Formats: sequence, C-alpha cells, structure tokens
Amino acid sequence: MSVTVREALATGAMWLKDAGVEGAEKDVRILLASAMGVEPSELLLKDDEDVHPEQFRTYDGFLAAREKFQPVSQIIGGREFWGRWFKVTRDVLDPRPDTESLIEKALEGGARQRVLDMGTGSGILAVTLAAEWPEARVIATDISTPALEIAAENALEHGVAERIQFAESDWFEQVGGTFDLIVCNPPYISLEEMGSLSPDVRNWEPFLALTPGGDGLEAYRIIAAGLENYLDEGGLALFEIGHRQGEAVSEIFRAAGFGAVTVSKDLSGHDRIVAVARE
Ligand code: GLN
Repeated sequence: MSVTVREALATGAMWLKDAGVEGAEKDVRILLASAMGVEPSELLLKDDEDVHPEQFRTYDGFLAAREKFQPVSQIIGGREFWGRWFKVTRDVLDPRPDTESLIEKALEGGARQRVLDMGTGSGILAVTLAAEWPEARVIATDISTPALEIAAENALEHGVAERIQFAESDWFEQVGGTFDLIVCNPPYISLEEMGSLSPDVRNWEPFLALTPGGDGLEAYRIIAAGLENYLDEGGLALFEIGHRQGEAVSEIFRAAGFGAVTVSKDLSGHDRIVAVARE
C-alpha cells in the first residue's frame, strides 16, 4: 500500500490533534520532512509523491513519540538556532527562539575576547558566540555532565571546539579568571509555574534546566553575589529572564552594587534580557 505525502500529513495531523498536541500541522511537516531527509519547504512540491515505506515507518515512529508529547527537536535530534543546527536530546533544554534575543544583544556590543557561558546546556550561546567571533575564547559551564557532552559535540560540529573550554560547575564554583562578556540563560521558572507548563516541557525537558525551585530567582541571586569577581571593568553580563521578571532581576543586580542595569525585549515585545554593565 502506498501513501502520498499529502495523505501522510493529513492522517498524521489528525492523529496528533486527537492526542491534544498543539500545532499538529506544523509538527507533522517537520517530522515527515525529517523522516524523508528533506527540508520542510521541499514537501510543498511533493504533495502527490509516494512516501517510501521505510521512511513512512520512521515517520510513524516519530508520530508515536509526538503523541506522547516528546518535543519535536528531541524526536528529530536537533533544531536550528541563530542559523546553525544544534543537536538536542533529553539531557538539554530545547533551545528557544526567544534566546536569540540574547545573541542579538551580545553581537550589538561588538566582538569580545573572553566569554563565559554559564549553564550552557546544548551549548547554543557558547558555540554561536565562538562562531560569530573568531578571536573569542569561551568557557562554557554546566552542572550536568550529559549536557556538557552534547555541548561539546555541537562545538565540534561547528568547528569551534578548540576555543571553548567546558567545565562542570555549579555557577561560578569551578570558574577561574575574569571575562569581558558573561552570558547566561539560567533556570528561571518558579516552582508554582512548573505545574502549569505543557506536558512537552514538564515531562521531557530536564527539571534542573527549567527551575531553580522557589520563586524562580535563586540563580540570579547566586550569580549577582559573585559577579564582581568575574566581570572585567567595562565588561557586560547578559541574562535571559522570564517575561515578568524584569523588575525583580534588575533589583537583584542593583542591590549587588551594579548601577548600569537595563531590560530589553524579545521579538514578541516581552521583557527578555537583563544587561548588567560594569563601569
Ligand atoms: N544555555 C542553554 C540555552 O540557552 C541552556 C539553558 C538552560 O538549560 N537553562 O538554551
């Protein structure tokens, strides 16, 4: 029995919708394209083509995983961030488009030489900055060994492994030296909000990458307390925040003695980045 691309997409979308998956139509295009080894945009030209039986079996397996709310990037093995493909597994936070705002902000300030990325996860921030700035040396930390392995693979893939040093560290604990740029997308979801997350996130992404517990601000407090020892004069620290945390996070850094703290927005107009400049 042969199945066309159009039929495969329609039945797949129905299956996922019935299971309560949001955005089922978009997901099935990505899943089928990946199973067929083509770009999602190429599927538009293949509506009437048959899906090879082996590729259909792969697609079927992908749908079964998505039905259980596994994130699409985990199923197909990765996702794009700032124009580069990153390997993504269950051991790392699924890179979010919002986090590209942090890269934008970093690039705006011009090339830096010594960069620290804390809680690197998949390595998107460390690898992107190393790739954009060929002179930069980066230290990338995480508390999770499996995450560091994924980040190292991504660094190799993008040809920047020699300029990134990976270290297992609880925030600044194992970090030495000073930096002219520090970037960090810490876990910032409060324990209370964890309960209302979609099953995709709650059941499949690493708990430690999502929440520090409590009010969600603990990582900023710990980092603010040590920041002065690691940030050069004239240096900049950029933090991703939850969209309602702008005031609270700014206040944490001001209280730690930093005068130049600003909040900027992501593409949807939500507060997303806190910038702390050391004068
Ligand atoms: N730095 C990674 C990212 O921005 C991981 C962040 C995290 O695990 N909280 O996606």
